[in-house]
Amino acid sequence: MTDPATALIHHPYTPPAGFCAPQPGVFKASTVIFPSVAAMRHFEWKDKTAYTYGLHGTPTTYMLEERLCTLEGGLQCLLLPSGLAAIANVALSLLRSGDEVLIPDNAYGPNKVLAEGELKSWGISHRFYDPLNPLDLAAKISPQTRLVWLEAAGSVTLEFPDLCELVRVCQARGVLTALDNTWGAGLAFAPFDLTPGSNPALGADISVHALTKYPSGGGDVLMGSVITRDAALHMKLKLTHMRLGLGVGANDAEAVLRSLPSLALRYRAHDQATRELARWCQTRSEFSQVLHPALPDSPGHGHWRALCQSGLGAAAGLFSVIFHPRYGQHQIDAFCDRLKLFKVGYSWGGPMSLVVPYDLAAMRSGWPAHLQPGTLVRFAVGLETPADLQTDLAQALQETLT
Ligand SMILES: *Cc1c(COP(=O)(O)O)cnc(C)c1O
Repeated sequence: MTDPATALIHHPYTPPAGFCAPQPGVFKASTVIFPSVAAMRHFEWKDKTAYTYGLHGTPTTYMLEERLCTLEGGLQCLLLPSGLAAIANVALSLLRSGDEVLIPDNAYGPNKVLAEGELKSWGISHRFYDPLNPLDLAAKISPQTRLVWLEAAGSVTLEFPDLCELVRVCQARGVLTALDNTWGAGLAFAPFDLTPGSNPALGADISVHALTKYPSGGGDVLMGSVITRDAALHMKLKLTHMRLGLGVGANDAEAVLRSLPSLALRYRAHDQATRELARWCQTRSEFSQVLHPALPDSPGHGHWRALCQSGLGAAAGLFSVIFHPRYGQHQIDAFCDRLKLFKVGYSWGGPMSLVVPYDLAAMRSGWPAHLQPGTLVRFAVGLETPADLQTDLAQALQETLT
């Protein structure tokens, strides 16, 4: 008889097949066991017909990839350990020494830092373009330009670009486009089909999504995805993903799988509460500007209306305010600290509302003409009752700015 120590490792019991439950199972592995050496030599992970190593996929990660493709209208998906890793995977795969990448001036900050701090040292140059001016993008595309990043709405300042026109400019010059689709989350608009009904479809070549935000929805998972509709482009990105050893843990993948069914409901709730609060902030004299794409005087509102009116949910749970310049930084910091329900912290997409004051001057190439002078504070609206959040904003304004 085999010793129990051995028996516990090589146990003969196999549960009956056919278990079925609302949530998929969690498969965890570094090692994947092959039935034979021949199978080991044959099995293929690149086309997802089999399993070879945990890093290259398990039933859990394949299942999440397929659902995310459905969400965004893509055909292939890669999972990465963060949204930023997804951005980096795209850059490292598509850019070589001598190439140039163009990034919108209002892009997610770490995307710009990646270009400045890493890509530059490998001889890859970058330029920032004005996302509200397609002519500026057109003028900056050079023979060295290999990749153009798009983002709608822009991080922190939430300008909404004319995505269709930006994509057309890039397509006319044969340059690949990668859209940071975290804000839209696959719900506000379709990243690969920006003008529904047109044939061929007009859309980005690559959609990057920080699943850390709405798909996770809990503020407790870091993950990113890279979605495409072109097999050759996907394979290029996938080989970089494999060579860099990037992958995600099964428990994290399961957490996202568990949250996806409520994604549309949560997005809509965040959206509605955010619009209520943004409109209320417009009535307050402390703010010289409120930034939210659904507000008629917010930069790019017309582009937002054209693209996002018909989606399941039309805007994410973010808005920013610019405080009147009569308030000093210490007063604005005190306002943020005074908030009780809005916590001071980065990221968004979870149930808890968050606030961050930003030093906009340090983040942009110049102070944008469409923004009032003053200090910017961004709110990420969670799932609390909107009236409670409004009361919280009112008390903090009252206590610190009067
Ligand atoms: C948060 C965020 C990312 C990065 O996601 P992480 O998982 O935090 O690395 C990328 N783009 C946008 C627009 C984001 O908001």
